[in-house]
Amino acid sequence: MRLKLMVVAGCMALPGLLLTGATAAAANPATPSPSTTPSPPPSATPSAPGHENDPPNEVASTESYSTFRSSPGFQLPFPCGQAWAGNNSGSSAHRGYELDFNRGNTASADLGDTVVAAAAGKVVISSHQGSQNGFGNLVKIDHGGGWTTFYAHLNVRSVSAGDTVAQGQKVGTVGKTSRPGNNISPHLHFEVRQGAGYPGNIRKAVFNGVTFGYPIQTVTSKNACSGGGGGGGGANPHTPQSVCGNGYRVVDSAALGAGGTVYLMYNSANRNNCVTTIKKNSLGKATAVGAYLEVKGKPRVTDNGNFTYFAGPVRAAAPGKCVKWGGKAGTAVYNSPFEHCG
Ligand SMILES: [Zn+2]
Repeated sequence: MRLKLMVVAGCMALPGLLLTGATAAAANPATPSPSTTPSPPPSATPSAPGHENDPPNEVASTESYSTFRSSPGFQLPFPCGQAWAGNNSGSSAHRGYELDFNRGNTASADLGDTVVAAAAGKVVISSHQGSQNGFGNLVKIDHGGGWTTFYAHLNVRSVSAGDTVAQGQKVGTVGKTSRPGNNISPHLHFEVRQGAGYPGNIRKAVFNGVTFGYPIQTVTSKNACSGGGGGGGGANPHTPQSVCGNGYRVVDSAALGAGGTVYLMYNSANRNNCVTTIKKNSLGKATAVGAYLEVKGKPRVTDNGNFTYFAGPVRAAAPGKCVKWGGKAGTAVYNSPFEHCG
């Protein structure tokens, strides 16, 4: 699976940085607090400027996770064309694959910028979390299949619990709200979760079919770029070259009905072959697609799954050998003979 969990020890100790609002205790906004005093949290570690005590720890899960399906095809939670720097490691409060987004030259440059839904869904939380956690103004969207996204520290919330939202629809603006007394600089704290079991349910963010380059990467939004609700229309932003990488050239290809094309590529510099299947329809939606490469005499390398834009890349070196390659998109399948020998 592509969802591999790891604990990110994200603390950048900066001398001289003082924390305000010292707690980071778990809280459950849907459950009345018991009369007992919560046990004191472990002392926080100073983190990147402005991100002290950034996130919460936990928010109640009210969804039923009896049915799971593949990822809804998330896009960056900002309007089409905008470039945002995502940072997983800048906050000591992060426990998994949470991301803090910023843009601009100053700490407050992005205050008030539009935040949009990463995928279509139903708003299940739109409220200020008060002192229960560090989220401040929080919007949580349920995308079905156990998938949810969190948008925290919002300056303004533009949707209400119960609303249905489209991918790319505005849900609020970037802000610096948090628990009372907790001073942070403006940023969007964003999470993708699947199922219950915090913090293990915080998944790696995948935008436009590409897994975020943890811990830090600047990503340009493709959210609703086609103007029609996003993801469902327009051209596939991925090419065989972008998937296989620099130095690879197409040496063969085969159509997979209307669903896509599978490509065999070769890199003369490192003598690797690469196979990828690029989808042509259901773009942004996870659908069955696959790619494989088999060097004669060796085990086949396969990447099959429900993917939003492409399958692969699968790579193998085959000096002096013949290769068999192919893939599928929906029900269309292509299998080459052993060929391209040498
Ligand atoms: Zn954060």
